[in-house]
Amino acid sequence: MVAGNWKMNLTLQEAIDLAEQIASRLKDSTEASTPIVLCPPAGYLQAVSSITKEIRGLYTGAQNCHQEVSGAYTGEISVAMIQSCGAEYVILGHSERRAYFHEDNILLSKKVKRALAQGLKVIFCCGETLPERESEKHFDLVKQQLQEGLFHLSEEEMSLITIAYEPVWAIGTGVTATKEQAQEMHAFIRSLLREIYANSVADNCSILYGGSCNPKNAKELFEQEDVDGGLIGGASLKAEDFLAIIHSL
Ligand code: PEP
Repeated sequence: MVAGNWKMNLTLQEAIDLAEQIASRLKDSTEASTPIVLCPPAGYLQAVSSITKEIRGLYTGAQNCHQEVSGAYTGEISVAMIQSCGAEYVILGHSERRAYFHEDNILLSKKVKRALAQGLKVIFCCGETLPERESEKHFDLVKQQLQEGLFHLSEEEMSLITIAYEPVWAIGTGVTATKEQAQEMHAFIRSLLREIYANSVADNCSILYGGSCNPKNAKELFEQEDVDGGLIGGASLKAEDFLAIIHSL
């Protein structure tokens, strides 16, 4: 999978233009076997999904959802709302949601449950900060994020999860994890899955790399045995760059 996280960028017209450029280039291409997910801001979900639904293998995802079904939660978006706009995925646990909106593993575990219960597929992010890596706590930290955020799920539910390893120090910084650092952590994540779930779940779970991935470094990252694609921020805002990353897979 390659997913584009557009974050809080673009006007409605710019979002439509970007989705149309990507859709027209993916049309009839062989990449249809690789899911490509565009994750625009919530207000553009319907407009973008009306474009993605025309192309096989191209999907729309939200960047967040609330853990409750509905109710008095001003400014929030529910799973049903996301689905009613035609989106099929949601990103949960992004480091920006964790840092700026104080989303912790326990809250995220509820969001994951809610999303899956109502039929949204989840791209679940994990990853350590620079001080955590420098103090060699990165494996423990990622393990805790997955244990508390995901490992309450049944085998069936787990098969609907894509995991994105996104070292916080690499997000939007221009500093990318080396291919060795990425492979090491991805293999570790798969080994955790193997400890808890059937081998088939561990083998089939897509583990994406995210963090300053661009057309120049995507290929060597994606070539690593346990790197199954990418979650792309900045480079997903330019159709040419995003398509070049897709073609690197
Ligand atoms: C992200 O925010 O998920 C991300 C990977 O951002 P960037 O590619 O800009 O580092």
